[in-house]
Amino acid sequence: MNPKTFIQVIVFCLFLPINAMGWTNHATLAYPIFFSFPEVKNASSIKVETIEHFLKTEQKGLVRLLYDEDVWAKKNIYAYPHSLERIKFRDNILSSELKTRFLMAIRVNPYSRLVPYIQILNSDDKKNNTILNWQDVSLIKSDYKYLDIKPGEIISAFEILTTACDEPDNGLDIGVWEDNNTEFGKIYGFGNQPFGNPKLEYSSQAPFHMGFFHESDIIYLMASFIKKTYVEYRIHLYQSLAKYAFETGHKYWGFRFMGWGMHYVQDLTQPYHSTLLPGISVPSMLWINLLDNIAIRSPKNDALQLVTNRHLAIENYQYNLLKEAIENYLLNHNLTKALGDSTNDSQYVEFTNLTPRNVISKKSNSYANETDKILERCLPKRLVSEPSYIFEKTEPDINVLSEIRKNEPEAEKILEELLIKLLVPAGAHSRNYFRSILPSAQK
Ligand SMILES: [Zn+2]
Repeated sequence: MNPKTFIQVIVFCLFLPINAMGWTNHATLAYPIFFSFPEVKNASSIKVETIEHFLKTEQKGLVRLLYDEDVWAKKNIYAYPHSLERIKFRDNILSSELKTRFLMAIRVNPYSRLVPYIQILNSDDKKNNTILNWQDVSLIKSDYKYLDIKPGEIISAFEILTTACDEPDNGLDIGVWEDNNTEFGKIYGFGNQPFGNPKLEYSSQAPFHMGFFHESDIIYLMASFIKKTYVEYRIHLYQSLAKYAFETGHKYWGFRFMGWGMHYVQDLTQPYHSTLLPGISVPSMLWINLLDNIAIRSPKNDALQLVTNRHLAIENYQYNLLKEAIENYLLNHNLTKALGDSTNDSQYVEFTNLTPRNVISKKSNSYANETDKILERCLPKRLVSEPSYIFEKTEPDINVLSEIRKNEPEAEKILEELLIKLLVPAGAHSRNYFRSILPSAQK
Protein backbone atom coordinates (compact mmCIF):
# COMPACT_ATOMS: atom_id res chain seq x y z
CA MET A 1 0.00 0.00 0.00
CA ASN A 2 1.39 3.39 -0.88
CA PRO A 3 2.22 5.79 1.97
CA LYS A 4 -0.62 8.14 1.18
CA THR A 5 -3.21 5.39 1.50
CA PHE A 6 -1.50 4.25 4.65
CA ILE A 7 -1.96 7.70 6.17
CA GLN A 8 -5.59 7.74 5.07
CA VAL A 9 -6.27 4.48 6.90
CA ILE A 10 -4.77 5.95 10.02
CA VAL A 11 -6.92 9.04 9.72
CA PHE A 12 -9.91 6.79 9.15
CA CYS A 13 -9.41 5.13 12.51
CA LEU A 14 -8.14 8.16 14.33
CA PHE A 15 -11.36 10.07 14.04
CA LEU A 16 -13.73 7.24 14.62
CA PRO A 17 -16.76 9.05 16.01
CA ILE A 18 -16.45 6.91 19.07
CA ASN A 19 -19.19 6.38 21.55
CA ALA A 20 -17.20 5.55 24.63
CA MET A 21 -20.03 4.54 26.92
CA GLY A 22 -20.16 0.75 26.61
CA TRP A 23 -23.44 -0.61 27.89
CA THR A 24 -25.67 2.19 29.13
CA ASN A 25 -25.87 2.42 32.91
CA HIS A 26 -24.01 -0.60 34.26
CA ALA A 27 -26.05 -0.44 37.45
CA THR A 28 -28.93 -1.86 35.41
CA LEU A 29 -26.69 -4.80 34.50
CA ALA A 30 -25.30 -5.38 37.98
CA TYR A 31 -28.77 -5.25 39.53
CA PRO A 32 -30.07 -8.52 38.00
CA ILE A 33 -26.58 -10.09 37.98
CA PHE A 34 -26.26 -9.83 41.77
CA PHE A 35 -29.87 -9.66 42.92
CA SER A 36 -29.89 -13.32 43.93
CA PHE A 37 -26.17 -13.97 44.21
CA PRO A 38 -25.73 -15.39 47.72
CA GLU A 39 -22.39 -13.73 48.49
CA VAL A 40 -23.91 -10.32 47.82
CA LYS A 41 -27.44 -10.96 48.96
CA ASN A 42 -26.33 -12.46 52.28
CA ALA A 43 -23.33 -10.19 52.91
CA SER A 44 -23.65 -8.36 56.20
CA SER A 45 -24.41 -4.65 55.97
CA ILE A 46 -21.43 -2.38 55.55
CA LYS A 47 -20.39 0.87 57.17
CA VAL A 48 -19.66 3.61 54.65
CA GLU A 49 -16.10 4.95 54.80
CA THR A 50 -14.79 8.09 53.10
CA ILE A 51 -11.98 7.75 50.60
CA GLU A 52 -9.87 10.05 52.80
CA HIS A 53 -10.19 7.70 55.77
CA PHE A 54 -9.33 4.65 53.68
CA LEU A 55 -6.26 6.35 52.19
CA LYS A 56 -5.04 7.74 55.50
CA THR A 57 -5.29 4.34 57.18
CA GLU A 58 -3.71 2.41 54.31
CA GLN A 59 -1.23 4.93 52.94
CA LYS A 60 1.85 2.73 53.37
CA GLY A 61 0.31 -0.42 51.94
CA LEU A 62 -1.02 1.48 48.94
CA VAL A 63 2.43 2.82 48.09
CA ARG A 64 3.60 -0.77 47.70
CA LEU A 65 0.45 -1.91 45.87
CA LEU A 66 0.61 0.88 43.29
CA TYR A 67 4.31 0.24 42.74
CA ASP A 68 3.57 -3.44 42.08
CA GLU A 69 0.71 -2.52 39.75
CA ASP A 70 2.99 -0.33 37.71
CA VAL A 71 5.50 -3.18 37.37
CA TRP A 72 2.73 -5.62 36.41
CA ALA A 73 1.25 -3.26 33.82
CA LYS A 74 4.62 -2.54 32.23
CA LYS A 75 5.15 -6.24 31.77
CA ASN A 76 1.66 -7.09 30.54
CA ILE A 77 0.05 -4.10 28.82
CA TYR A 78 0.99 -3.03 25.30
CA ALA A 79 2.60 0.44 25.21
CA TYR A 80 1.97 1.02 28.91
CA PRO A 81 4.12 3.93 30.09
CA HIS A 82 5.58 3.62 33.59
CA SER A 83 4.07 5.84 36.22
CA LEU A 84 6.16 8.98 36.59
CA GLU A 85 7.97 9.97 39.80
CA ARG A 86 6.08 13.25 40.14
CA ILE A 87 2.68 11.58 40.38
CA LYS A 88 3.61 8.54 42.46
CA PHE A 89 1.68 7.86 45.64
CA ARG A 90 3.85 8.29 48.75
CA ASP A 91 3.54 7.64 52.45
CA ASN A 92 4.20 11.26 53.46
CA ILE A 93 1.34 12.99 51.66
CA LEU A 94 -0.66 15.55 53.66
CA SER A 95 -4.14 14.40 54.66
CA SER A 96 -5.73 17.28 52.76
CA GLU A 97 -4.08 16.14 49.52
CA LEU A 98 -4.53 12.40 49.85
CA LYS A 99 -7.58 12.03 47.62
CA THR A 100 -6.21 14.11 44.75
CA ARG A 101 -2.79 12.47 44.97
CA PHE A 102 -4.34 9.00 44.94
CA LEU A 103 -6.47 9.85 41.89
CA MET A 104 -3.39 11.21 40.15
CA ALA A 105 -1.32 8.17 41.10
CA ILE A 106 -3.86 5.88 39.44
CA ARG A 107 -4.02 8.36 36.57
CA VAL A 108 -7.73 9.08 36.54
CA ASN A 109 -9.42 12.47 36.43
CA PRO A 110 -8.35 14.15 39.72
CA TYR A 111 -11.66 16.00 39.93
CA SER A 112 -13.59 12.74 40.32
CA ARG A 113 -15.97 13.15 43.25
CA LEU A 114 -15.77 9.79 45.08
CA VAL A 115 -18.41 10.91 47.58
CA PRO A 116 -20.49 8.21 49.26
CA TYR A 117 -23.71 7.82 47.25
CA ILE A 118 -25.93 5.18 45.79
CA GLN A 119 -27.75 5.02 42.50
CA ILE A 120 -31.40 4.07 42.79
CA LEU A 121 -33.11 2.01 40.09
CA ASN A 122 -36.23 1.07 41.95
CA SER A 123 -38.08 4.18 43.11
CA ASP A 124 -39.37 2.45 46.25
CA ASP A 125 -35.87 2.23 47.76
CA LYS A 126 -34.53 4.60 50.41
CA LYS A 127 -37.23 7.23 50.10
CA ASN A 128 -35.89 9.31 52.98
CA ASN A 129 -32.43 10.07 51.64
CA THR A 130 -31.68 13.36 49.89
CA ILE A 131 -31.43 13.26 46.12
CA LEU A 132 -28.06 14.54 44.89
CA ASN A 133 -27.43 16.68 41.81
CA TRP A 134 -25.53 14.83 39.13
CA GLN A 135 -22.64 17.30 39.63
CA ASP A 136 -22.17 16.00 43.19
CA VAL A 137 -21.40 12.54 41.84
CA SER A 138 -20.29 12.79 38.24
CA LEU A 139 -18.22 14.90 35.86
CA ILE A 140 -20.64 14.03 33.08
CA LYS A 141 -24.27 15.09 32.87
CA SER A 142 -26.58 12.30 33.90
CA ASP A 143 -30.30 11.77 34.47
CA TYR A 144 -29.86 8.89 36.89
CA LYS A 145 -31.12 9.14 40.46
CA TYR A 146 -28.32 9.46 43.00
CA LEU A 147 -28.96 9.48 46.75
CA ASP A 148 -26.82 11.07 49.41
CA ILE A 149 -25.21 8.62 51.83
CA LYS A 150 -23.39 9.82 54.93
CA PRO A 151 -20.06 8.40 56.12
CA GLY A 152 -20.79 5.88 58.85
CA GLU A 153 -24.21 5.03 57.40
CA ILE A 154 -24.91 1.31 57.06
CA ILE A 155 -25.78 0.12 53.54
CA SER A 156 -25.80 -3.20 51.70
CA ALA A 157 -23.07 -4.77 49.56
CA PHE A 158 -25.68 -4.91 46.77
CA GLU A 159 -26.16 -1.12 46.87
CA ILE A 160 -22.42 -0.45 46.85
CA LEU A 161 -21.64 -2.88 44.06
CA THR A 162 -24.49 -1.97 41.67
CA THR A 163 -23.73 1.74 42.11
CA ALA A 164 -19.97 1.33 41.67
CA CYS A 165 -20.37 -0.69 38.46
CA ASP A 166 -21.55 2.46 36.70
CA GLU A 167 -19.05 4.84 38.30
CA PRO A 168 -16.26 4.67 35.68
CA ASP A 169 -18.72 6.28 33.23
CA ASN A 170 -18.96 9.28 35.59
CA GLY A 171 -15.78 10.69 34.07
CA LEU A 172 -12.96 8.81 35.81
CA ASP A 173 -11.05 8.32 32.55
CA ILE A 174 -11.77 11.67 30.95
CA GLY A 175 -9.06 14.14 29.99
CA VAL A 176 -6.08 11.96 30.92
CA TRP A 177 -4.23 12.16 27.58
CA GLU A 178 -1.57 14.69 26.76
CA ASP A 179 -3.59 16.30 23.94
CA ASN A 180 -6.82 16.61 25.93
CA ASN A 181 -5.92 20.10 27.05
CA THR A 182 -6.07 19.37 30.77
CA GLU A 183 -3.30 20.20 33.22
CA PHE A 184 -3.21 16.62 34.53
CA GLY A 185 -3.22 15.01 31.06
CA LYS A 186 0.04 16.81 30.41
CA ILE A 187 1.78 15.18 33.38
CA TYR A 188 0.29 11.65 33.38
CA GLY A 189 2.64 10.34 30.73
CA PHE A 190 0.03 8.44 28.68
CA GLY A 191 0.98 10.40 25.53
CA ASN A 192 -1.55 11.50 22.92
CA GLN A 193 -4.98 9.93 22.72
CA PRO A 194 -4.50 6.96 20.37
CA PHE A 195 -7.92 7.14 18.66
CA GLY A 196 -11.17 9.06 18.87
CA ASN A 197 -11.24 12.82 18.68
CA PRO A 198 -9.10 14.34 21.50
CA LYS A 199 -11.17 17.53 21.36
CA LEU A 200 -14.35 15.71 22.31
CA GLU A 201 -14.25 15.32 26.07
CA TYR A 202 -16.19 12.10 26.20
CA SER A 203 -14.25 10.23 23.55
CA SER A 204 -11.10 10.57 25.67
CA GLN A 205 -12.23 7.67 27.85
CA ALA A 206 -12.63 5.31 24.87
CA PRO A 207 -9.15 3.71 24.96
CA PHE A 208 -9.85 2.65 28.57
CA HIS A 209 -13.28 1.18 27.87
CA MET A 210 -12.55 -0.67 24.63
CA GLY A 211 -10.19 -3.41 23.58
CA PHE A 212 -9.48 -4.20 19.93
CA PHE A 213 -7.65 -7.46 20.52
CA HIS A 214 -8.98 -9.45 17.55
CA GLU A 215 -8.56 -7.34 14.43
CA SER A 216 -6.85 -8.57 11.27
CA ASP A 217 -3.06 -8.41 10.94
CA ILE A 218 -3.27 -5.91 8.13
CA ILE A 219 -5.19 -3.48 10.31
CA TYR A 220 -2.64 -3.82 13.11
CA LEU A 221 0.13 -3.35 10.60
CA MET A 222 -1.36 -0.15 9.25
CA ALA A 223 -2.72 1.29 12.45
CA SER A 224 -0.85 -0.21 15.38
CA PHE A 225 -2.14 2.53 17.70
CA ILE A 226 -5.49 0.74 17.97
CA LYS A 227 -3.61 -1.75 20.16
CA LYS A 228 -3.09 1.03 22.67
CA THR A 229 -6.03 0.34 24.95
CA TYR A 230 -5.78 0.25 28.72
CA VAL A 231 -8.91 -1.66 29.64
CA GLU A 232 -6.89 -4.59 31.06
CA TYR A 233 -4.84 -2.16 33.14
CA ARG A 234 -7.99 -0.80 34.78
CA ILE A 235 -9.46 -4.29 35.35
CA HIS A 236 -6.27 -5.46 37.07
CA LEU A 237 -5.70 -2.27 39.07
CA TYR A 238 -9.19 -2.23 40.59
CA GLN A 239 -9.06 -5.97 41.20
CA SER A 240 -5.86 -5.46 43.22
CA LEU A 241 -7.28 -2.46 45.09
CA ALA A 242 -10.45 -4.39 45.91
CA LYS A 243 -8.52 -7.43 47.18
CA TYR A 244 -6.34 -5.17 49.30
CA ALA A 245 -9.31 -3.29 50.75
CA PHE A 246 -11.05 -6.54 51.73
CA GLU A 247 -7.86 -7.99 53.23
CA THR A 248 -7.37 -4.90 55.38
CA GLY A 249 -10.99 -4.76 56.56
CA HIS A 250 -12.28 -1.90 54.37
CA LYS A 251 -15.31 -3.68 52.95
CA TYR A 252 -16.95 -0.54 51.62
CA TRP A 253 -13.96 0.22 49.39
CA GLY A 254 -13.56 -3.47 48.61
CA PHE A 255 -16.99 -3.56 46.97
CA ARG A 256 -16.62 -0.13 45.41
CA PHE A 257 -13.28 -0.90 43.72
CA MET A 258 -14.68 -4.29 42.68
CA GLY A 259 -17.59 -2.53 40.96
CA TRP A 260 -15.20 -0.18 39.16
CA GLY A 261 -13.19 -3.09 37.73
CA MET A 262 -16.33 -4.99 36.82
CA HIS A 263 -17.47 -2.06 34.68
CA TYR A 264 -14.60 -2.64 32.24
CA VAL A 265 -15.19 -6.40 32.24
CA GLN A 266 -18.79 -5.70 31.18
CA ASP A 267 -17.74 -3.15 28.55
CA LEU A 268 -15.79 -5.83 26.72
CA THR A 269 -18.94 -7.92 26.27
CA GLN A 270 -20.28 -5.16 23.96
CA PRO A 271 -19.29 -6.11 20.37
CA TYR A 272 -18.92 -2.44 19.41
CA HIS A 273 -16.32 -2.14 22.18
CA SER A 274 -14.29 -5.17 21.17
CA THR A 275 -14.44 -4.61 17.41
CA LEU A 276 -13.12 -1.68 15.42
CA LEU A 277 -15.90 -1.51 12.82
CA PRO A 278 -18.57 -4.21 13.16
CA GLY A 279 -20.21 -5.11 9.87
CA ILE A 280 -17.44 -3.62 7.71
CA SER A 281 -15.03 -6.13 6.21
CA VAL A 282 -11.34 -5.35 5.87
CA PRO A 283 -11.54 -5.14 2.03
CA SER A 284 -14.50 -2.72 2.35
CA MET A 285 -12.56 -0.67 4.84
CA LEU A 286 -9.62 -0.43 2.46
CA TRP A 287 -11.87 0.31 -0.51
CA ILE A 288 -13.72 3.20 1.10
CA ASN A 289 -10.38 4.56 2.24
CA LEU A 290 -9.12 4.39 -1.26
CA LEU A 291 -12.15 6.37 -2.42
CA ASP A 292 -11.58 8.84 0.37
CA ASN A 293 -8.03 9.16 -0.85
CA ILE A 294 -9.28 10.39 -4.21
CA ALA A 295 -11.64 12.84 -2.52
CA ILE A 296 -14.76 10.67 -2.66
CA ARG A 297 -15.49 11.11 1.00
CA SER A 298 -19.09 10.18 1.52
CA PRO A 299 -18.64 6.36 1.66
CA LYS A 300 -16.24 6.72 4.57
CA ASN A 301 -18.29 9.32 6.44
CA ASP A 302 -21.50 7.37 5.85
CA ALA A 303 -19.96 4.10 7.06
CA LEU A 304 -18.66 5.69 10.26
CA GLN A 305 -22.00 7.36 10.98
CA LEU A 306 -23.90 4.09 10.52
CA VAL A 307 -21.53 2.21 12.86
CA THR A 308 -21.95 4.93 15.46
CA ASN A 309 -25.73 4.93 15.11
CA ARG A 310 -25.97 1.15 15.49
CA HIS A 311 -23.59 1.23 18.45
CA LEU A 312 -25.74 3.80 20.21
CA ALA A 313 -29.01 2.16 19.17
CA ILE A 314 -28.27 -1.19 20.79
CA GLU A 315 -27.23 0.53 24.03
CA ASN A 316 -30.34 2.68 24.02
CA TYR A 317 -32.46 -0.46 23.53
CA GLN A 318 -30.52 -2.36 26.25
CA TYR A 319 -30.94 0.45 28.76
CA ASN A 320 -34.65 0.97 28.19
CA LEU A 321 -35.39 -2.74 28.27
CA LEU A 322 -33.41 -3.37 31.47
CA LYS A 323 -34.83 -0.28 33.16
CA GLU A 324 -38.35 -1.41 32.39
CA ALA A 325 -37.59 -5.00 33.41
CA ILE A 326 -36.11 -3.93 36.77
CA GLU A 327 -38.92 -1.49 37.54
CA ASN A 328 -41.77 -3.80 36.60
CA TYR A 329 -40.71 -7.41 36.76
CA LEU A 330 -37.50 -7.65 38.80
CA LEU A 331 -36.24 -11.11 37.96
CA ASN A 332 -39.31 -12.29 36.09
CA HIS A 333 -38.24 -10.97 32.74
CA ASN A 334 -36.35 -13.20 30.27
CA LEU A 335 -33.39 -10.85 30.16
CA THR A 336 -33.02 -10.22 33.90
CA LYS A 337 -33.53 -13.94 34.55
CA ALA A 338 -30.74 -14.77 32.10
CA LEU A 339 -28.41 -12.19 33.64
CA GLY A 340 -28.99 -13.55 37.13
CA ASP A 341 -28.61 -17.21 36.22
CA SER A 342 -25.26 -18.39 37.60
CA THR A 343 -25.67 -22.09 36.77
CA ASN A 344 -23.33 -21.88 33.77
CA ASP A 345 -20.65 -19.65 35.30
CA SER A 346 -18.34 -22.60 35.71
CA GLN A 347 -18.19 -23.18 31.92
CA TYR A 348 -15.47 -20.53 32.10
CA VAL A 349 -12.33 -21.39 33.97
CA GLU A 350 -11.39 -19.01 36.75
CA PHE A 351 -10.95 -15.33 35.92
CA THR A 352 -7.30 -14.65 35.09
CA ASN A 353 -5.34 -11.72 33.69
CA LEU A 354 -5.91 -13.13 30.20
CA THR A 355 -9.67 -13.58 30.52
CA PRO A 356 -10.60 -10.06 29.30
CA ARG A 357 -8.58 -10.49 26.11
CA ASN A 358 -8.74 -14.20 25.31
CA VAL A 359 -12.23 -15.02 26.49
CA ILE A 360 -14.50 -12.00 26.95
CA SER A 361 -13.59 -9.77 24.02
CA LYS A 362 -12.92 -12.75 21.78
CA LYS A 363 -16.49 -13.91 22.23
CA SER A 364 -18.11 -10.49 21.77
CA ASN A 365 -15.89 -9.82 18.76
CA SER A 366 -17.12 -13.07 17.24
CA TYR A 367 -20.71 -11.78 17.61
CA ALA A 368 -19.97 -8.38 16.02
CA ASN A 369 -21.04 -8.96 12.42
CA GLU A 370 -24.11 -10.94 13.39
CA THR A 371 -25.09 -8.20 15.86
CA ASP A 372 -24.64 -5.53 13.23
CA LYS A 373 -26.78 -7.46 10.72
CA ILE A 374 -29.59 -8.02 13.22
CA LEU A 375 -29.65 -4.33 14.10
CA GLU A 376 -29.75 -3.41 10.43
CA ARG A 377 -32.60 -5.81 9.82
CA CYS A 378 -34.70 -5.23 12.94
CA LEU A 379 -34.46 -1.57 13.87
CA PRO A 380 -36.36 1.20 12.07
CA LYS A 381 -34.47 2.11 8.88
CA ARG A 382 -33.81 5.73 9.75
CA LEU A 383 -31.95 4.73 12.93
CA VAL A 384 -29.53 2.27 11.36
CA SER A 385 -29.40 2.78 7.60
CA GLU A 386 -29.59 6.51 6.98
CA PRO A 387 -26.26 8.27 7.43
CA SER A 388 -27.95 11.67 7.58
CA TYR A 389 -29.53 10.56 10.86
CA ILE A 390 -27.39 11.45 13.88
CA PHE A 391 -28.38 9.19 16.74
CA GLU A 392 -29.61 11.03 19.84
CA LYS A 393 -29.16 14.36 18.04
CA THR A 394 -31.72 14.11 15.25
CA GLU A 395 -34.21 12.88 17.84
CA PRO A 396 -32.72 13.67 21.26
CA ASP A 397 -35.30 11.66 23.22
CA ILE A 398 -35.36 8.58 21.02
CA ASN A 399 -36.42 5.41 22.85
CA VAL A 400 -35.55 2.43 20.66
CA LEU A 401 -37.67 0.05 22.73
CA SER A 402 -40.83 2.14 22.17
CA GLU A 403 -39.99 2.51 18.49
CA ILE A 404 -39.72 -1.25 18.10
CA ARG A 405 -43.00 -1.87 19.89
CA LYS A 406 -44.76 0.77 17.82
CA ASN A 407 -43.40 -0.10 14.42
CA GLU A 408 -41.70 -3.50 14.34
CA PRO A 409 -43.27 -5.63 17.08
CA GLU A 410 -42.11 -8.89 15.49
CA ALA A 411 -38.51 -7.70 15.85
CA GLU A 412 -38.77 -7.44 19.62
CA LYS A 413 -38.25 -11.15 20.19
CA ILE A 414 -35.19 -11.27 17.92
CA LEU A 415 -33.61 -8.30 19.66
CA GLU A 416 -34.35 -9.70 23.09
CA GLU A 417 -32.64 -12.96 22.09
CA LEU A 418 -29.65 -11.02 20.78
CA LEU A 419 -29.30 -9.08 24.03
CA ILE A 420 -29.57 -12.27 26.07
CA LYS A 421 -26.81 -13.83 23.98
CA LEU A 422 -24.56 -10.79 24.47
CA LEU A 423 -25.34 -10.17 28.12
CA VAL A 424 -25.31 -13.68 29.59
CA PRO A 425 -21.48 -13.64 29.43
CA ALA A 426 -21.54 -10.22 31.18
CA GLY A 427 -23.31 -11.91 34.10
CA ALA A 428 -20.96 -14.88 34.25
CA HIS A 429 -17.77 -12.83 33.91
CA SER A 430 -18.93 -10.27 36.47
CA ARG A 431 -19.53 -13.04 39.00
CA ASN A 432 -16.23 -14.71 38.12
CA TYR A 433 -14.44 -11.38 38.59
CA PHE A 434 -16.17 -11.19 41.98
CA ARG A 435 -14.86 -14.69 42.79
CA SER A 436 -11.33 -13.70 41.74
CA ILE A 437 -11.43 -11.05 44.46
CA LEU A 438 -13.35 -13.00 47.09
CA PRO A 439 -12.37 -16.61 46.31
CA SER A 440 -14.61 -18.01 49.01
CA ALA A 441 -17.63 -17.18 46.81
CA GLN A 442 -19.21 -20.36 45.46
CA LYS A 443 -19.36 -21.40 41.84
ZN1 LIG B 1 -17.46 2.07 30.06
